[in-house]
Amino acid sequence: LSPGPIDNSGLFSDLETQSLKEHLIDELDYILVPTEAWNKLVSWYGCIDGQQPIVRKVVEYGLFVKHCKVEVYLLELQLCESSDPDNAVRCHFSKADTVATIEKEMRKLFNIPAEKETRLWNRYMNTYEQLSKLDSTVQDAGLYQGQVVLIEVRNDDGTWPEQHFLANHKLIIDCVMINVSKVSTYTSHSWCSILATLKQQKNVGGLNNFIKQGSGFVCNSYNCRDSASLSQPGLCGLSNLGNTCFMNSALQCLSNTPPLTDYFLEDKYEAEINQNNPLGMRGEIAEAYAELIKQMWSGRQSYVAPRMFKTQVGRFAPQFSGYQQQDSQELLAFLLDGLHEDLNRVKKKPYLELKDANGRPDSEVAKEAWENHRLRNDSIIVDIFHGLFKSTLVCPECSKISVTFDPFCYLTLPLPLRRDRAMEVTLVYADPQYRPVQYRVVVPMMGAISDLCESLSKLSGVPAGNMVVTDVYNHRFHKIFQMDEGLNHIMPKDDIFVYEVRKPSEDGSEHITLSVYFREKTMRQSSNTSGTVLFGQPLLISVPKQKLTVDHLYSVVLEQISRYVKLPLVEEYSVPCPDKGTCNGSNGVVEGDIEEMEHQDGGQEGKEKLPEVNPCHAEGCMQIESARDLQPCKKQLFTFSLVNSSGTSEINSLVEGKILKLNAFSALAVDWDSDTRRLLFDEQEAQAFEKHGSMLQPQKKKSVVALTDCIELFTTMETLGEHDPWYCPNCKKHQQATKKFDLWSLPRILVVHLKRFSYSRYWRDKLDTVVEFPIRGLNMSEFVCDPRAGSYVYDLIAVSNHYGVMGVGHYAAYAKNKVTGKWYYFDDSSVSVASEDQIVTKAAYVLFYQRRNSE
Ligand SMILES: [Zn+2]
Repeated sequence: LSPGPIDNSGLFSDLETQSLKEHLIDELDYILVPTEAWNKLVSWYGCIDGQQPIVRKVVEYGLFVKHCKVEVYLLELQLCESSDPDNAVRCHFSKADTVATIEKEMRKLFNIPAEKETRLWNRYMNTYEQLSKLDSTVQDAGLYQGQVVLIEVRNDDGTWPEQHFLANHKLIIDCVMINVSKVSTYTSHSWCSILATLKQQKNVGGLNNFIKQGSGFVCNSYNCRDSASLSQPGLCGLSNLGNTCFMNSALQCLSNTPPLTDYFLEDKYEAEINQNNPLGMRGEIAEAYAELIKQMWSGRQSYVAPRMFKTQVGRFAPQFSGYQQQDSQELLAFLLDGLHEDLNRVKKKPYLELKDANGRPDSEVAKEAWENHRLRNDSIIVDIFHGLFKSTLVCPECSKISVTFDPFCYLTLPLPLRRDRAMEVTLVYADPQYRPVQYRVVVPMMGAISDLCESLSKLSGVPAGNMVVTDVYNHRFHKIFQMDEGLNHIMPKDDIFVYEVRKPSEDGSEHITLSVYFREKTMRQSSNTSGTVLFGQPLLISVPKQKLTVDHLYSVVLEQISRYVKLPLVEEYSVPCPDKGTCNGSNGVVEGDIEEMEHQDGGQEGKEKLPEVNPCHAEGCMQIESARDLQPCKKQLFTFSLVNSSGTSEINSLVEGKILKLNAFSALAVDWDSDTRRLLFDEQEAQAFEKHGSMLQPQKKKSVVALTDCIELFTTMETLGEHDPWYCPNCKKHQQATKKFDLWSLPRILVVHLKRFSYSRYWRDKLDTVVEFPIRGLNMSEFVCDPRAGSYVYDLIAVSNHYGVMGVGHYAAYAKNKVTGKWYYFDDSSVSVASEDQIVTKAAYVLFYQRRNSE
C-alpha cells in the first residue's frame, strides 16, 4: 500500500514561500529524518511537484554539556541598507550561520559591487552596534528574531556615511558607565557635561575598553536624561528580547531577593570575583549580573533591555540563547550555580573523601557534610540559598541503612497526583439516525483505552468491544488507538471520538473498517498541488469484505450521512450521460485540474437536474467527453479516492465493479464539488450532537492542595523503581531499596520549585493544580529533622509564574520591593502594583521565601 507522494503543504502557513506555520510540535505535526532517509523516501514515493525539501541544520548548543538540536525554526532578520533603513527585506538564517554569510547575502541583495567596502550594524531601538567579527555566528553575535541589520557602504573618499551610528553607540556606553558608577547627580546634566566629567575623572581608558568589548548593554534609550528619576529603585521592567519572558521572570525574583541584591549594590562582589575557577564563567556572569542589578536599582529607568546579560548567559549556557521558550526554573538553577562558581571564595578546591555515616549520630555526620561542602563551596550563594537534606536508604534484603547529607540550592516539590481523570468524549453511533452524544467519563489516570471503553459502555449501553477510539484533528484521524494503549497518550486538549463499529464477525462475514474523510474540490487556478480541502467529521464504516466494491461503499456512505445530506431523487441514481452538446461551452476547467478529475467516474453532471446549477459548470463533463464519450454514467453526489492517512495525497482511484483489496483503516476520501456540498450538505446537522447527563453533572472542584502537602509528599518514603535501583555495599548488588528524604537545615532564602511540568516521549503536560502557599508565616520547623534547629518561619518575597501550556506559555513574576514593602507584578517591560490576594494562583511555579529574623 503506497502512502502517495510526500506532501508537506500542511506544515506551511504560505504555500508560495513555504514558510513554516508557527508552533509546530515535534512528533505531533512533523518528524525529523536524516537526509539519507529523506532521499530514500523521495525515491520510493516521490514528492508533490513544486515542493522543496525542508532542510534544517543540527545546531550545537552547550559549552560544558554538549547538546545538539535540530534548528526547526530559522531566525528572521530584517536586512536594509543604511541609506534606506525603511526598506527592510526579511531573510532567514540559521543560528549557525556567520556574520560573513549575512554580509554576503546583503551584498547580493542590494547589488553592492565587489570592490566596495562595507560594514554591518545591528540596530536596537535607536542604537547601533557594529557587527565587526565576521566569523562569529548569528547566535554568538546575539542577533534575535526580527532584528534589523544594516549594511553601510564606504564612500569613495574613504569616509563612512553613518558616523552618527558610532556616536550613538558611544553615548550608550557613557550611559552605562554612569549607571555603573551610580553618579546620580549627573542625571540633570546635559550629555556634554557628563562626558566631560567622566573624562576629567580619567575614566577614558575604561570607556575605551568598554567600546572595544563591543558592549551590548543598552539602557532602554540613550537619552537617560528623559526618563531620569521617574522610577523607584527596583521597579524596573525588563524588555522582552524575543521569547525571553522566562529569563525576565527569573531575574525579577532574584532582583527582589534583598541579601543578594544588597551584596551587588554594595559592590561586595568585586573582591570576590573568581576568574580562575574552572567551574565558573571567568567572573563574566557575575559581572553581567551586577551591571544589570545596578541598572535595575538605579531608579532612573522604568525598564531596561537585558541584552548583554542574555548574550553572556547564552555564551556559557547556549541552551538559553535561542528564542524558543525556556523554563525559568532551569535558568534560575543555572544562574545560582553560575553566580556561585564565579564568586566562589575557595580558589583551590581541596579533595575530600566521602565518609560513610556508619551508624554515627546524624548531627555529627550532618556537621561533617556541611563543613566539607563549605571547604569546597563558599560564596554569597551558599550563604543565602544553600540548605542540607538527609537521605536515608534501606536495603530490603540485609536492612543496611545508608544515610547521607547533601546540600541543595532549591527544593523541587512534587505535586500530589490525582488517581482519576475525567475525560470528555463523543460517541458516534453506528445507527446513522442518531446524533453523536458527548459523555463525561471518569477513568483511571494510568488506565488503558479499554478502561475508557468500559466506562463509556456503562453509560451508553454500546458494547465496549464495538468501540474504536480516535483522536480527530483537522477533519481527519490523527490517531486510531489500540485497546491496550495507555490513556496517558491522550492529552486534555485532544478531541476524542469513539465510534461504534460492527464487530468483525457478527454475521459470519468478515468485516473491514475503513476511515472516510470528506473533501471539497477547490478550483484553484494553476495549482498542480492538492486541489481539495478536508471538511466535516470523518467516519468509520464497516463493510463486509466480499461486498467491498465502489458501488457498495457508495451506498454505505450515503446511508451513514443520510441524517445531514438531503438526497436527490433515487431514480436519478443512474441516467445516461446528457447530450455532450450541453457541456460543450466554456466551463472554467483549467488544465491542471483535469488529471485530478480523472478519478471521478463521471461524477457531477447529474446535478444539472438540481435547480440553480448551470450544467456547463459541471466540471466532470469535459473529461467525460474526451475519455468516455457517451458512456452511461451514474449520477453521484460524490466520488471516491484512496488517500493517505492525512487525506492529502491520493494513492489511486478506485476501479468500479471489482472487489477492492483494502487494509483495515485504509482512508477513503469522499470528494464533493462545492455546489453539491452547498446544496445538499446540512452543515448544522452534521455538526450537531447531544449532551449526555454526565456532562451536566457538576464537575468536582478543581483540586487544591496545600504547599505542606507537597512537602509531605517530598518527605514520604518510597521504594526505588526497577530501573533505578541502589547498589547495596553490603549485599554487593543492586537492590530496590526504600528511600526517604528529610530536611536537615534550611537556608535564609528558600527557593521552592513546584514540579508542574512532566516530560516523557508522549506525555508533555502541565499540572494546573492550585497550590495554596502562605504569603506570611510559612512554618517549616516541623519538616526539619535536626532536633537542635531553631525555628524556621518564612515570608514570601517573590513568585515566578507560568501561564498557559508548555512550550508556548508566558512567564511573569510577583515580587515584593524591599524599599516600599509592597507587592508588584513584573510582566516583561511593565511593572504594576499588585495586591496580596492576586498572588496565589495555579500559575505559581517557583516560590521565593525569606526566613524571619535571619539577620
Ligand atoms: Zn543489602
